[in-house]
Amino acid sequence: MKLIFLGPPGAGKGTLAVLVSETYKIPHISTGEIFRAAIREKTPLGLKVQAIIDAGQLVSDDITIELVRERLGKDDTKAGYILDGFPRTIPQAEALAKIVEIDAAVNFDIADDGVVARLSGRRVCRSCSQNYHVDYMKPKVEGVCDKCGGELYIREDDKIEAITKRLEVYRKQTAPLIDFYRSVGKLTEVDARPSSAAVLEEFKKLFPL
Ligand code: ADP
Ligand code: ZN
Repeated sequence: MKLIFLGPPGAGKGTLAVLVSETYKIPHISTGEIFRAAIREKTPLGLKVQAIIDAGQLVSDDITIELVRERLGKDDTKAGYILDGFPRTIPQAEALAKIVEIDAAVNFDIADDGVVARLSGRRVCRSCSQNYHVDYMKPKVEGVCDKCGGELYIREDDKIEAITKRLEVYRKQTAPLIDFYRSVGKLTEVDARPSSAAVLEEFKKLFPL
């Protein structure tokens, strides 16, 4: 199953993608994660994109498309995958259509006030990238990852100025993808407001194993 996860930042796409990836045994491909790993490792790509990402802006289509093309060329993608955070612009969607035909684009729907509450409370594990939330998904020990014991931190782009910018970018550049996939009959809508466990149940009904 080849899936795209759409929705505003903070909709819980990444969290759901991890759960769906484990349940359906398909890789979770997050462009945001790939960029953050590159920044952490100070690769040439990481050095190029760090300031852009910290400010809540989008990395150029050229760089992002090339990155995804390479990733989709790897062996583990044969049985399917979840693309989380890509495509994010119409040119990216058009480029993807030339690389592969996806089965469905799942739109995780949530209003702006919900987004701000989620992003401003988000904490991320430095070692394994697991997401937590200070109110909705607390780790057992504050500041420590349940899965690997790594340190939890606040993403630079989860600070309020960057959140506002990301929502603006989302509305302008990414929201049009909803109509793009609806018009080709590939759009599935999911209410992203309930807990991630509840959203996963809803997802399993929509895409039976
Ligand atoms: P979120 O969905 O929480 O906003 P991501 O982890 O998906 O965050 O992405 C973080 C940042 O990485 C984005 O704000 C953007 O700067 C960059 N990025 C990720 N995916 C793309 C993409 N497809 N095109 C351009 N920039 C991207
Ligand atoms: Zn961890």
